[in-house]
Amino acid sequence: MTTPATRTEVVDAADQSRMRPLPLKIHPHPDETTRSFLHRLETANALHPGQLRKTLRRARRPWIETLAAWTGDNPQVLSLAMPQLRQRNETAVPRSKLVGRPDRTILGTACRHCALARGAGRYVEIYTTHERVICPRHGLWIGDGIQGFTDQLPILACPDIIAAWHHHKNLITRHSRSRVRKAFHISSVINWRWYDQFHHFTHAIEIYDALAADQPRHSQSQAMVAASLYPSIVSLTATIASPFWARIAHSRHPNAFLDRISDEVTDGWQPRGAFDSLRHWMDTDWQPTFKGADIVGSPGSTRYGLRPRPLPQLTAERHMQQGLNCGKSH
Ligand SMILES: [Zn+2]
Repeated sequence: MTTPATRTEVVDAADQSRMRPLPLKIHPHPDETTRSFLHRLETANALHPGQLRKTLRRARRPWIETLAAWTGDNPQVLSLAMPQLRQRNETAVPRSKLVGRPDRTILGTACRHCALARGAGRYVEIYTTHERVICPRHGLWIGDGIQGFTDQLPILACPDIIAAWHHHKNLITRHSRSRVRKAFHISSVINWRWYDQFHHFTHAIEIYDALAADQPRHSQSQAMVAASLYPSIVSLTATIASPFWARIAHSRHPNAFLDRISDEVTDGWQPRGAFDSLRHWMDTDWQPTFKGADIVGSPGSTRYGLRPRPLPQLTAERHMQQGLNCGKSH
């Protein structure tokens, strides 16, 4: 005679059935978000959107174990590939393996060509670092202004953007990731406000013209404007990140700092008045307040851990409608 299954046995059986491998297995792209990975897993297995997430929430075990059972991947591999899983399962990867690694805290998209080459399709959402704005291998802009893979625009027509990216990385080596990330944020806010006020300066306009001639399909896109401003943003970042120049900027005699900015960024123009964004920074020394770390810290460090928080959207919706006014200088 069979006895009726207890509630615990029924729940355990349901939990076990949730651990069955999926027919089609995919592997995570480096730094992929769990949202993106689940979406790709559902698409590959012809499942309803959100079905796997619902199952993960019902399962009475850590997500990483269920994902490993579905995909056949080692939990350590999943944990190394997906920053969110690392945060929830610190035991899966020894922290010492990650110490010194730049922490990924900004939402972005992987280069569509790199994603395709890895068999991950064209659209993969990732956590990234602030300086990963281009794919140097495929010459694509993947920084600010990118919503989907179709927004990723070729920038090989503008060597200045690639040169600026190398400069950006060198700044991180020279001044530290934390300092450059803050300076880059400040510089981005200042440059976008200049763009708002008078469509920026000659260098950005020339880059925009070259990009628009090469890629007319993307003209007036937010990504193209962002790519055009990037070299100017990096130039100003270099000065703001330098302790020497920052000290002069906040001193009572900032003329040498202003001369440098007018030579390198603003076509000889010197910002004046309390309402100018650069003068405002010089007067107040405002700093961005990022949550989370820039670098994974040593065991016991409170700086360890992902605090997903994308950079504030520096570019308003209207940038997409406006584009850069090519024929207009300040
Ligand atoms: Zn690529």
